[in-house]
Amino acid sequence: MKLHSACLLLGLASLLPSLSPAAQSTGSPFYGDAPDRHHPWSIHDHNRPQPKRVEPGTFSSATQPGTPPSDAIILFDGTAASLEKWEADTKADAPRAPSKWIVKDGAMECVPKSGYVRTKEQFGDCQLHVEWAAPKNVQGNSQGRGNSGIFLMGLVEVQVLDNYNNPTYADGFAASVYGINPPLANALHAPGEYQMIDIIFRRPVYEGTKVLDPGYLTVFCNGVLVQDHTPLEGPGGHQKRSVAGPFPAQGPLKLQDHGNPVRFRNIWYRPLPARSVEGGTDGFLTAEATTLKRKAIAASVRADAAKLSGTAQMLRLAESLVYEDDVATHAQVETFATSYAANIQTLASSARSAKKNEVQSVIRALQYLGKSAVLPTTFGPRTTLESIVKAEGWDKVKK
Ligand code: MG
Repeated sequence: MKLHSACLLLGLASLLPSLSPAAQSTGSPFYGDAPDRHHPWSIHDHNRPQPKRVEPGTFSSATQPGTPPSDAIILFDGTAASLEKWEADTKADAPRAPSKWIVKDGAMECVPKSGYVRTKEQFGDCQLHVEWAAPKNVQGNSQGRGNSGIFLMGLVEVQVLDNYNNPTYADGFAASVYGINPPLANALHAPGEYQMIDIIFRRPVYEGTKVLDPGYLTVFCNGVLVQDHTPLEGPGGHQKRSVAGPFPAQGPLKLQDHGNPVRFRNIWYRPLPARSVEGGTDGFLTAEATTLKRKAIAASVRADAAKLSGTAQMLRLAESLVYEDDVATHAQVETFATSYAANIQTLASSARSAKKNEVQSVIRALQYLGKSAVLPTTFGPRTTLESIVKAEGWDKVKK
């Protein structure tokens, strides 16, 4: 069975705090633990955006490349037209030039001594899918057999090498982070057959000389985990001990010409969302980022409340206080709750009964705000409403 990476990274939540009407049906407000210093969302927060839909692709077979997921950016699809997305890896001060690699049988093939190729497009953190095949006609040994390389951002090499029956130094093995870390296993198919490589790449992030995140590579070879969140120690390389340091924000993907006619097919990537250390706004955040995000969520909830009226509006405004205890909104909710409780108090028992569910919703909100230290637990309107619930016997479980 050949695994495919389409399933690896599904479920990345949108970063935008847009609160669609659909969000209303994804759970109850005032339910799980409230946002805190490092978590802008409450537990089971119904306002948290739904993951974006991605149509999965299909798995590849030895004879047939699979299809990419719907949001993938295609870098090579087997056509000569897609080779136009690549160019020769000329030096920075030299003019750009077309790639000399060729397209044959749905694959782009390295023409030995023609040089590395690189994508015209530049990108950073990504989920990358590459399929490669070493020549069926086995020639050479160790690093001389079916050698090429997948260079993330043109810097870090995930080794391409025919190691099916060919030992070499371990940190230069197929699917090694070359010069840094050997793969956890040799999961290669025989030469001539395609290898399915799935990579999750996170570049190093620095603030001046301070490491915020060393960067990581996770790699699957034919569905087998071969790099497990391996920390980067700089770009790696031949003979020399790599030195860690910052990377640029983006770079091209490069494929190596190591003198062997290695073939590639079905190359695509999906950009990854920013980590919290570089401004990402979901997950475990810094205190500052959490405050900013909570403000943004509160503003969206208030904007949503502005479209409502009456009790529904009060409840929605109360909800916004969970994220940000905004002074004006706080006062609005207090005023509204005070008049609401007073009004319920004046109703006859039969009229109250008709409002039983609504009253209980309001109490739930006020209790939650009490638990979250937004309102005192002794908040008058809450006490009034709780007394009414008791007086009406709504707190009794029906037998
Ligand atoms: Mg190589």
